[in-house]
Amino acid sequence: MRLIGVTGGIGSGKTTLCEFFRRWGAQVIDADGLGREVVEKDPSVLKRLEVAFGRSILNPDGSLNRRRLGRLAFKSSENRLKLNRIVHPPLLKLLKERIKKTKGPGPVIIDAALLGEWNELSAILDFLILVRAKKRTRKKRIGSRWSLREIEERMALQLPAEELAKKADLVIDNDGSLKELEGQAHKAWEMISQHD
Ligand code: ATP
Repeated sequence: MRLIGVTGGIGSGKTTLCEFFRRWGAQVIDADGLGREVVEKDPSVLKRLEVAFGRSILNPDGSLNRRRLGRLAFKSSENRLKLNRIVHPPLLKLLKERIKKTKGPGPVIIDAALLGEWNELSAILDFLILVRAKKRTRKKRIGSRWSLREIEERMALQLPAEELAKKADLVIDNDGSLKELEGQAHKAWEMISQHD
């Protein structure tokens, strides 16, 4: 089975690219979504997050306030590390279980912003695709989802595309139209559906 990673900065187009692959027969695992499951399934993870970041990350009903945790986590590199140390081990375990359960001839794609800086995970990949787009394009595309400040904070703490490009087997530039992205996705698909 081929295990393909798709990474890139916030709003670069990872999910949009993966959606093309899904249509063509890939199984896509959304690592961010799994991160949510990890916290929901395992109360000890939530407890550790509370100890590390304080009660303000909880909603009045005791559930995780994701947005608040996200804001704190992207305030500094130390906070990012703290969060990763708590969430990555159970997330990697869940991801491996999910990978084992996937069936079918198509490649398995992992959509994860953190792949480039998560060595334990990138080590199990057969192929890594980086999607990149200029900051200006990304801000315009995701402006309605996040405040400009949140976008800036996240961008500042994510590895720059030049660094990620060194680790990637293929780089897809997504500053053009969706049609252009689809064309590049096609070429990538040819590579990953043949790649051993
Ligand atoms: P995040 O890291 O926030 O999950 P992402 O890298 O998964 O983001 P997407 O959600 O795929 O990025 O794309 C961000 C937004 O930009 C979406 O609304 C998507 O529809 C749009 N988008 C992506 N590529 C293009 C494109 N080539 N032309 C126009 N809009 C695009």
